[in-house]
Amino acid sequence: MKQYNSLRDVRTDLTNGEVTCRQLVEQYLRNINEKAELNAFLETFDEEALAQADAADRKLANGTAGKLAGMVIGIKDVLAYQGHRLQASSQILDGFKSLYTATAVQRLLAEDAVIIGRQNCDEFAMGASNENSSFGPVLNADDHSRVPGGSSGGSAVAVQADLCLASIGSDTGGSVRQPASFCGVVGFKPTYSRISRYGLIAYASSFDQIGIISKSVEDAALLLEVMAGPDAYDSTVSQRDVPAYSGLLATDTRYKIGYIRDCFESEGLDAEVKDSILSIKDMLREAGHTVEAVDFPYLDYIVPTYYILTTAEASSNLGRYDGVKYGYRTDNATDLSSMYKKTRAEGFGLEVQRRIMLGTFVLSADYYDAYYTKAQKVRRLIKEKTDELLQTYDFLILPTAPTTAFKLGENTANPLAMYLADIFTVQASLAGVPAISIPVGRDANGLSIGLQLMSRSFGEPALLAFSNYILDKITVEA
Ligand code: GLN
Repeated sequence: MKQYNSLRDVRTDLTNGEVTCRQLVEQYLRNINEKAELNAFLETFDEEALAQADAADRKLANGTAGKLAGMVIGIKDVLAYQGHRLQASSQILDGFKSLYTATAVQRLLAEDAVIIGRQNCDEFAMGASNENSSFGPVLNADDHSRVPGGSSGGSAVAVQADLCLASIGSDTGGSVRQPASFCGVVGFKPTYSRISRYGLIAYASSFDQIGIISKSVEDAALLLEVMAGPDAYDSTVSQRDVPAYSGLLATDTRYKIGYIRDCFESEGLDAEVKDSILSIKDMLREAGHTVEAVDFPYLDYIVPTYYILTTAEASSNLGRYDGVKYGYRTDNATDLSSMYKKTRAEGFGLEVQRRIMLGTFVLSADYYDAYYTKAQKVRRLIKEKTDELLQTYDFLILPTAPTTAFKLGENTANPLAMYLADIFTVQASLAGVPAISIPVGRDANGLSIGLQLMSRSFGEPALLAFSNYILDKITVEA
């Protein structure tokens, strides 16, 4: 089957009778089976996906099809889909089935998308390499000895390897953007609160945001437009109107762009990544945009602040997995207390246990003010400085990740090195602003390099339009 890069291409062929939704699903299912060694999908929903495809074909024929007819989507194993298994790639949710469907997923279905399966990820979305999954690592399709990034690694590889047209993941500190960067696809985290989190397994609730992985910015815009907006089941979701993002992608504005000087001087930044992003900066300047260096004095504080706050929230959120209510329960309990302890020791993987302990520590009575309260204050400073920069500049640009995809096992023995992989993505998460990673080049090993753009809160229309413009420009100049 021909490879499709956007729903627009699919729709053209559907209209011309070149392909049907059923044939698309059959082909994606074959691709998933043929590339099973990538370990991107934990399961596929064959019968149901084919039935959804048939329904979409019928609606296309009689002119009642929704916006997403022809769109075949995979969902990360942190999104609830009624009657389907849901376990955040963890053994602690072994056997658990969703009792309801996440609002975001429900809205996709309502527009006639097909949900093809459940995707592998780091356990409870904690990780940057997809090596923390209890189902084993996902492999980068460009080089099987390398990681796809994480935590939405399966979701990124699924789009990279043509196993579905788009994926829905979650981004707490970069989990959509960083794997997209490693896999050469688009990864988009909207403003915090833009999409309902109802039905998304919580990791760190004041950071968690549903995000999109796709081949084109246009598809990301369309999926955002469908999923965003008020929801009676999530009181934290923004009440703002949802623009028709996908219709707002044309732009001839000359923008004001800042690049954070300190990021480009940061020690761990790979030389090829640096050169590639700097050349984009030059390209934009030549095209008439204003591009200026800006100072962001808190770069050294963002990773520690992020890990104090997210582990604190995680220790609280993951308290509910106690062997009583969901999934796994130990067989070796002798009393109630040993049931709790053994269930959690056996059910959670090592990284999740490490974070629960760290989070419990920073919230403990003696250390609360020294760590948690302090980190909240630093978060405020980071947010205020980021917002201030984004009042002056339309966008901040920086690399998505300091390196291209690293080798499997390279960072597993050193959690600190792994945490530093998040250095460029967590700023947008701490500030709650939207950010996107777009593929802008490849290093000498052929590995993809991602450019990250941040914009002010609810600045998605311009952010998406400008990202689309950059990708078009790169294609034209290549
Ligand atoms: N790598 C980051 C972490 O481990 C980001 C994870 C995420 O965004 N879910 O927390």
